Amino acid sequence: MHKNRPISDLLARQRPVLSVEFFPPKDDAGGELILKTAEEIRTYVDPDFVSITYGAGGGTRERTFRYARILKERYGFEVMPHLTCVGSSYDEMREIIREYQEAGFCNIMALRGDPPKGETSFKPHPDGPPYASDLVNFIRQEFSGFSLGVAGYPEIHPEAKSAESDLKYLKLKVDQGGSFITTQLFYDNETFFKFAENCRAAGIDVPIIPGLMPIRSAKQARRFAKVIPPQLDALLDEAGEDAEKVHEVGIDWTYRQICELIEKGFNGIHLYIMNRSHMPIEVIERLRASNVL
Ligand SMILES: Cc1cc2nc3c(=O)[nH]c(=O)nc-3n(C[C@H](O)[C@H](O)[C@H](O)COP(=O)(O)OP(=O)(O)OC[C@H]3O[C@@H](n4cnc5c(N)ncnc54)[C@H](O)[C@@H]3O)c2cc1C
Repeated sequence: MHKNRPISDLLARQRPVLSVEFFPPKDDAGGELILKTAEEIRTYVDPDFVSITYGAGGGTRERTFRYARILKERYGFEVMPHLTCVGSSYDEMREIIREYQEAGFCNIMALRGDPPKGETSFKPHPDGPPYASDLVNFIRQEFSGFSLGVAGYPEIHPEAKSAESDLKYLKLKVDQGGSFITTQLFYDNETFFKFAENCRAAGIDVPIIPGLMPIRSAKQARRFAKVIPPQLDALLDEAGEDAEKVHEVGIDWTYRQICELIEKGFNGIHLYIMNRSHMPIEVIERLRASNVL
């Protein structure tokens, strides 16, 4: 059941490409949860690929790699492990990438990463890549055969000097060899459409995969996204503390976001699932029932 397919090939087909994101668990309870979720996602969502994040804390290299292998070998997923520049020299990164390649992964999400907890700004390793574009360039110079994802920000990266500079550096990541862009989550499709339009106008022509997360609580949604459309804001206010109503708003909003994105020709959908299966399964089943997927 082992797959080994570049995501850029998947994105070249007509049918929408569906992906979900896991994160490597930190303890035994988290370990059980990710396995149960992987089983359910395999059975009911059957995504085209899954990704697994690379955390900022210690031990992430080993955990990301371990769970990437489990997701690939035990569940048969096409897996894209993430890799960040945090705390690693070029020599260490070369070793990690070699390890990914030897284990049969042909996709990597190449990121700079956030500053580790307690630190306010990103400090690159003195002998490591300072930006994601440098990591992409490094992988392209030293390895062949990888399809590389890079991150995009419809609401603009929080450290960016301006929308224009953020776009300029996104273009640099693609020019250095990024194969596709996966975006940070958003709840306002108009913000995403504007971002995609700006990318195209700037000459960025690789596929752009919108990243979505079904809302689990109004507080969380308002914390994670800068733009909450007035209609969604009103629905969340109306649902108040009623967990069932919030759940329904969450499912319905993501469902409607995906319907519109697919209708406008975006043929990839990436779901941030926080290692939980219920909401993504509900959304996907609703999309399949109405023949959107
Ligand atoms: C889909 C997705 C997956 C993610 N997965 C993870 C993960 O697994 N682990 C994790 O820790 N984080 C993850 N993140 C978060 C990400 O690491 C942070 O948002 C991080 O702050 C920026 O990473 P980047 O790769 O976008 O950085 P970059 O593209 O390097 O950009 C970082 C900032 O620097 C600016 N910039 C870029 N290049 C230059 C330059 N040459 N000169 C000056 N300024 C420049 C950009 O405008 C931006 O403000 C993910 C984000 C997304 C959208």
